[in-house]
Amino acid sequence: MSLGGFQSGFSARKVSRSEVRWGQFLICNHGCEEVIQLISHVSGEVEFELCKIEAERMAHVLLEASKAERL
Ligand SMILES: [Zn+2]
Repeated sequence: MSLGGFQSGFSARKVSRSEVRWGQFLICNHGCEEVIQLISHVSGEVEFELCKIEAERMAHVLLEASKAERL
């Protein structure tokens, strides 16, 4: 099941650690058992993966950036 999606062409879904596509590139030293994948609408491929904690941090960073004053 994929969640949401946005017009830039990706949707997101959560998988377990054992289902990670690009395990060698996953940056996680928290021992997260859940991984968020970004799936391209165009290719249907997993384009990006983040562990749950990193995904939450990235979401927070993006949210803060979107609310910030322009430089
Ligand atoms: Zn992690």
